[in-house]
Amino acid sequence: MVDIPSQDNIQRPIVVPDPDGSRDNEVRPFAIEGMDVRGRAVRLGTVADQILSAHNYPDPVARILGELLTLAALLGSIMKFDGIVTLQTKSQGPVPMMVADFEAKGDGVGRLRGYAQLDEDKLKTYGKNPSFEGLVGSKNGHLVLTIDQGADMDRYQGIVDLQGASLSDVARNYFMNSEQTPTELRLSCERDAVTGNWRAGGIMVQHLARGEVGQERILDRETKEQWNRASVLMHSVKEAELLDPALDLDQLLFRLYNEDGVRVFDSARLIKGCRCERERLLAVLGQFSKDDIADMVHEGVIGVNCQFCNKTFEFSPEDALAQAAQQ
Ligand SMILES: [Zn+2]
Repeated sequence: MVDIPSQDNIQRPIVVPDPDGSRDNEVRPFAIEGMDVRGRAVRLGTVADQILSAHNYPDPVARILGELLTLAALLGSIMKFDGIVTLQTKSQGPVPMMVADFEAKGDGVGRLRGYAQLDEDKLKTYGKNPSFEGLVGSKNGHLVLTIDQGADMDRYQGIVDLQGASLSDVARNYFMNSEQTPTELRLSCERDAVTGNWRAGGIMVQHLARGEVGQERILDRETKEQWNRASVLMHSVKEAELLDPALDLDQLLFRLYNEDGVRVFDSARLIKGCRCERERLLAVLGQFSKDDIADMVHEGVIGVNCQFCNKTFEFSPEDALAQAAQQ
């Protein structure tokens, strides 16, 4: 799960374009000069808004889902192969489940999608500004990370408790416990003050050193100071800076790390993507019994909703029954 850029990439200087040329929907990998520190910054504009606005989530729920999408983009873009990275929360709280996934198909574009399942009754008891733990965390709540490289390949799964004041805390714990990689990160999602559209952003730094394992690598005094500096500078980023459409990621990185020197590498572009297809949904319908299919008919059609993009596909009862007979 680490990204060590090739030497060619390391020679490329930072580009700081004009503020007018600000860019959204990208993940920008970077490295800090002279330190064994690598990082990634991510910014979601229209992609976050399209995914979150497809549902009518209360804002506190949409904020966390936006952060989960941002985390999926950070982690997914580290993958060096085609596949799907899925983050899923499970808890007994008012949001029993939340999912965000990132799909890579080898074209340098990450496809993001996500949704939240709500328990409306429990949600009502949590007031206007429920905490992160109040919404998605609980004693038994956990976050599962799955990396799926396709049918023939191994599936990787990691798990971490949903404990902490924010999703960033949970992710930090995950990296420390499961990957033994010192990691600091910030995630943010908020409505734009002017347009009201959702925006999301995040930044992550990791301490990487070849040939050393886990915590040992930051015991050395000089290394420890460097890592502390990289972490403190990262945490100095303001929420508004993570989201500001007029401040692109390169400018943000330059603002944070210009004294140390920061190099950036090729970005991954992010788009909203979903894997719902008519044929696949019809195949799912075909697994139900004749009676079940009859019960699903409303005004002559069967509507099947994709939980991710909230798109509804309509099937005739005849097609559903024909599919059921085939399977
Ligand atoms: Zn869909």
